[in-house]
Order: sequence, then C-alpha cells, then structure tokens
Amino acid sequence: MENQNQEVSPEMTEKPKRTRRPKRAKNNTNKEHSSDAVNTSSTENQSKIWSIEDFDVAEVEGKVRFHDLNIPDRVLKSIAEMGFEYCSEIQAESLPMTLQGYDIIGQAQTGTGKTAAFLIAMISDFLDYPLEKKEGNNYARGLIIAPTRELALQIADEAVKLTANTHLNVVSLVGGMNYEKQKMALANETVDIVVATPGRLLDFARSRKVQLGKVECLVLDEADRMLSMGFIPDVKSIIRMTPHKESRQTMLFSATFPKDIQALAKQWTFFPKEISVVPKESTNKNIEQVIYTVEADQKWPVLKELIEENGAQRTIIFANRRDETRDLHERLRKANINCAILSGEVAQDKRVKTLKGFKDGTIQVLVATDVAGRGIHVDNVELVVNYALPEDPEDYVHRIGRTGRGGETGKSVSFASEDDAFLIPEIEKLIGESIRCEYMVGTSQ
Ligand code: AMP
Repeated sequence: MENQNQEVSPEMTEKPKRTRRPKRAKNNTNKEHSSDAVNTSSTENQSKIWSIEDFDVAEVEGKVRFHDLNIPDRVLKSIAEMGFEYCSEIQAESLPMTLQGYDIIGQAQTGTGKTAAFLIAMISDFLDYPLEKKEGNNYARGLIIAPTRELALQIADEAVKLTANTHLNVVSLVGGMNYEKQKMALANETVDIVVATPGRLLDFARSRKVQLGKVECLVLDEADRMLSMGFIPDVKSIIRMTPHKESRQTMLFSATFPKDIQALAKQWTFFPKEISVVPKESTNKNIEQVIYTVEADQKWPVLKELIEENGAQRTIIFANRRDETRDLHERLRKANINCAILSGEVAQDKRVKTLKGFKDGTIQVLVATDVAGRGIHVDNVELVVNYALPEDPEDYVHRIGRTGRGGETGKSVSFASEDDAFLIPEIEKLIGESIRCEYMVGTSQ
C-alpha cells in the first residue's frame, strides 16, 4: 500500500529525472528515430515511410509546433492525421515537462486541449520505453480516471486516435455501459491504456480483471468534479493499488482548486510542476447552440421568421460588417421589428442610449458588430443570432456568451451558408464540441 505521507529528505527539492529516460537533443526537428519509422497504410505504397517532412507546419513566432518537442514520429503522425498543427497553450506549457517525466498539477478546463496534452506525454513515454516483457495482458501501463462517462469516452476516443500508429491498445471501463463487453475486452485484449470512471474501475480492479500494480502513468482528470460527485473515496482506493508516487508519473487536472483538491493534488503527486491555463472565455453549458444551414438568399426570410416566432424576446444579431448591420437594421425596421444598431460607427452617447433601451426592454433586437458587441453586458438576452459566422472562432465564443448569463438559459442560432460554412470546424475545435445543424428554408420572401 502506498504511504502517501512518506517523508522526503529536505535536500530533495526537485523531482529526480526518471533514470530510464534517455537524453535526447533539443529541438531535433530533423530527428530520425530509426525505431520510429512509420509505415503508411498497408493498402498504399508499402515502401513509403512517413517522415516528419510529411508534417509540414510553418514555424511561427510565439507558437510551438509539435515538431519542436521530443515526440516520437509515430505519435507525430497521429497528431498530423488529427489535423493539429500547433500546440495549444496547455500543451506548449506542459509537454516540455511531462515528456521529461515530471508530474504536473494543471488548472485547465475542457476546450484547452488538455486531453491531448496528457495523452501525448503518456503515449510518447510508452513508445520510448517499451516493456521488455509485459507481466500479463491485463496489467495497465497507463490509467486515466475521469468523473463522467461522456468525458471518459471522449478521452478514450482521442487516445485511440493518438495510438493509431502504435501497437498500444486502449480499453475503456466506464459505468452505465455494458459490463460484460468490458469484461470481455479485459479478458481478450492487451490492456495498455485504461480510461475509466471510478466506480466501474474499482469493480474490475478489486476482482483483478484489470491489474493496476504496474501503472507507469496516472492521470486524474476533472478532480474537482470527482470531489463534488463523491468519488474521492473510490479514487483513493484506486490510487492505493497503483505504484508509489515516486515510481509513477502523475498528472492531475482540475478546473478549480478548492482546499480539498489542493491537498489531494499535493498528496498524490511527486515534486509536481504547476501550470494554469484559464481560457479567456469558454462557452457556457446553459446555451443551446444550433447552426441553420441556409442558402445565402434564404438568410433574411429565415431570420425574419425566427424573430417573429420568438415574440418579444431580447435578441442580439451579429453581423461581420457595418454595412451588413445597416442593411439588416433597415429590413428589420421595415418588418416592424423594434430594433437598433450597435456598431463602431454609432456615436458613443447614442450607443449608451441604445443599450439602456435594450436593457429596459424598449428595444427588442440589437444588430451588432463584434467590437461593439463585446461591451454588451445585459442579463436575460434570450437569443443570439450569428447572421454570418465570425472569421475568428474566438469571436463566436464572445458572441454567444452574451446569452445564458448569470445561470439563465439561452439560445444561439448561427447561419451558415455556402460562403462561410467552412468556418464551422474551427469553431467546433475551439469549443470542443460539435454543434447541431438544421437545414432551413424561409417560407416567405
Ligand atoms: P480538450 O480540451 O482536450 O477537450 O480538447 C478540445 C478540442 O481541441 C478537442 O476537439 C481536441 O481534439 C482539439 N485539440 C486539442 N489539441 C489541439 C491542437 N493542438 N490543435 C487543434 N485542435 C486541438
């Protein structure tokens, strides 16, 4: 059993590097790991070997490329296949340390790229240090614990993608899903990386269907939610089954760090490096998001019907250009919809008046541009419409953040036509979820 309170000699202020980790040259963008040679798909040209040259990403000041880190080519190939080019902030901050074997305590939420951050570190380690002999097929090398089924499955999905060019196998042991199927997977498959929710994992670990005594890398994701959901006793029991913290790498993530989580984080990690990436603004779970795919000439009729259907709800419509806001405002006015413009070309005193009118309900619809829209801090905005998708995905987050404030629910409807639908994947990547799409045609002109 792990003695979590073990004294550490006072002169030891840094976690000793794990002795089994070889020193690699820094910034070896042209590194050639002969052992990393990656075969392309067997149906393609068998003799073609994937190399880092196939992952063509320009050097950009202030951005870290995955090439710039000591990541094995087989993982880089998966990263390239997933369409990632530059590290997200948490990846750029954590990977240089985690790839050296350091423990980390990370403050980060979903949407920051934390999943790939810990998976890339874990998978790289397992490839760089292959086991000479696996104890048994049900001994896990990597263990990731997450509080909910959805999160665990999302992590498992990303783990499968990142291990696609390796021999490593991912098994998910998740509550609320078919127990027998998971039991069969443990019996029939080699278990390298386990992604699990606490209760189900404990069941399998106690009955020794999965063995945790050789875990090399442990990830605790969304620790604060595990606490609030009452999983900490289970997690403690699980951690006691893994090797001592000196002998494993531990990465703990949490969006918030109340006192209890701070204490547990310290207890479970060994000379951890601390990092914090707080997203500038992330989307709010109280906002129902939908994309209306429309032909460009259907945008206006669909919008008009949407506003009319919604009655007197407080609505903000975002457009990308001032002339679009003017045009929309004119059309809304002609349709007898109570509206006003909020864009950079409106004088400041007029803007203040407009906002006041919007707040007290004398104005129902605001037509705004991004810059002016950022200043809108009005509660009870029921609907945000993106009449055109913003070119910068961050603006999407800002825009829809005007609704669903202060615990209220809100709705955002984004119009995507043939001109701007290509912007959707970037937005979905940033917010870390896919947005429901509906095809719409206006019934009136
Ligand atoms: P996460 O915060 O781990 O839930 O990740 C949010 C989303 O960002 C997921 O869809 C990831 O696949 C994606 N993602 C993670 N890292 C990167 C990256 N470096 N570049 C682009 N997308 C990424």
